[in-house]
Amino acid sequence: MRIELRKHTRYLFISVCIAALLLAGLYFSGMLEFRPGQHLPPRLVHASKGLNQYEIQAEFNPDAKTLICRQKVEYINRSEDQLTHLYFHLYPNAYRYEDKPVFEKNEMKRAYPNGFSPGHLELDQVLINGVQADFVVGGYSDNVLMLILKKNLDPRHKAVIEMDYTVVLPNCLGRFGYGDNMYKAVNWYPIASVYDEAGWNLDRYYSIGDPFYSDAANYRVQIQAPAGYTIAATGDMKSRKQEDSRVTWEFNALAVRDFAWLAGNKYQTASKQVGRTRVTSYSFTPEIGEKALDYAAESLAYFNEAFGEYPYTQFGVVESDFYIGGMEYPNLIMLDHSLYKEMGDDYLELVTVHETAHQWWYGLVGNNQIRDAWLDEGLAEYSTLLYYGHRYGQEKAEEMYKSLIGEGKYKYLEWYMLSDDMDETIHRPSYEFTDWVIYDLLVYGKGAMLFHSLRQEMGEELFFKGLQSYFQENRFQNAGKADIIRTFNQVSGRDWQHHFDQWLYDGV
Ligand SMILES: [Zn+2]
Repeated sequence: MRIELRKHTRYLFISVCIAALLLAGLYFSGMLEFRPGQHLPPRLVHASKGLNQYEIQAEFNPDAKTLICRQKVEYINRSEDQLTHLYFHLYPNAYRYEDKPVFEKNEMKRAYPNGFSPGHLELDQVLINGVQADFVVGGYSDNVLMLILKKNLDPRHKAVIEMDYTVVLPNCLGRFGYGDNMYKAVNWYPIASVYDEAGWNLDRYYSIGDPFYSDAANYRVQIQAPAGYTIAATGDMKSRKQEDSRVTWEFNALAVRDFAWLAGNKYQTASKQVGRTRVTSYSFTPEIGEKALDYAAESLAYFNEAFGEYPYTQFGVVESDFYIGGMEYPNLIMLDHSLYKEMGDDYLELVTVHETAHQWWYGLVGNNQIRDAWLDEGLAEYSTLLYYGHRYGQEKAEEMYKSLIGEGKYKYLEWYMLSDDMDETIHRPSYEFTDWVIYDLLVYGKGAMLFHSLRQEMGEELFFKGLQSYFQENRFQNAGKADIIRTFNQVSGRDWQHHFDQWLYDGV
């Protein structure tokens, strides 16, 4: 994500609490039949093997602001542990209670210009392997679903989970909901929590940072929408069939870590081919939409060359009612409407490129965005500076570095530190940052400085070799601090642990 604003509120963290429960339910079986497209890159088809599969049918009702959904998930236990429960995030419920908002207090008016509007997900029923399942909806704002397995799920075994549910979209200009111009179905369906060496990751939807962490999975999603709506989504559109006044759109996506879609009836589109990828701009003002398309296409082409190829065939850049700025999803970024008008081209370019860089650092190489936000944000911010150097030359790159990080942002940080005895640690959970300003300065700014100093010390060639190998070794998976350090150590034959630790934990 990239924010437009400087925000100044303190934030209190209240921990997630999930009730523990007993067994019931059942487990596993049956392969969902998943048919990848004919002309998908072999690498993508290969990467899609052994991943969880989601099939979702959603009926989109713009008048009622609802999505009526049926979902089938083939969940594969890819850990070495026996699982007694399965967990899913119900992110829409984070928008449910006015007294537990996903925004800082002073942001509420901007997020809800027409007053608070609740968003939520109502589960009708859950089946596991065809049998009615016992489940508990809990957590901070009912945003975690716990499924109780009757029999443990062994490593490499599968469970087929079917759910019927209704999503209510809030009138909200944050990530999820709708504004005057369009609808945002992002973080909108039950998505499996990540089970890693720390166990289940059940973090709630914190107001600071991008509170997401997920595994790559395969998706087949059908969205039935009224005729006249355009849908921009993760994945490839396989078909679009109209029956009377309704259109059914079908999308397939392989090896992506989320499925997002945005819909509106005012969009004008423009496309450009970059290698194997069709880049499409969805905008309300075509002239500025063309500019967003150019920034996205140019940065995609450069990052392909600099880090390794983006393997997907689609990438969408979508003008949105998203007051915070820009937000990344697989194959899709949303950019606030204001970037297309009063904010000016420079900011549109900066945010478009930053979100495009996230297709590599978040999308392809995933990480825990709550605990290791510096990894994707620091890299996305630094990749943006690399783009400026590549496209406009060294002088422009230095100017951007100064204004974004060096003399601009970091001077601001120094000033901020004077007024506040501040901890400069950037490697800490997003909920431990006191506000968005500090988060931005440290995670984005100091995070990018870490990579800049690494490049200066290693030299151009080894630095890019390191990023390419980090990308190659970790794409379609989740990586952490140890992975990136190991990669740079390997390519250079030197130990960079101390360098990383200095930047991550010490003052500058
Ligand atoms: Zn970002």
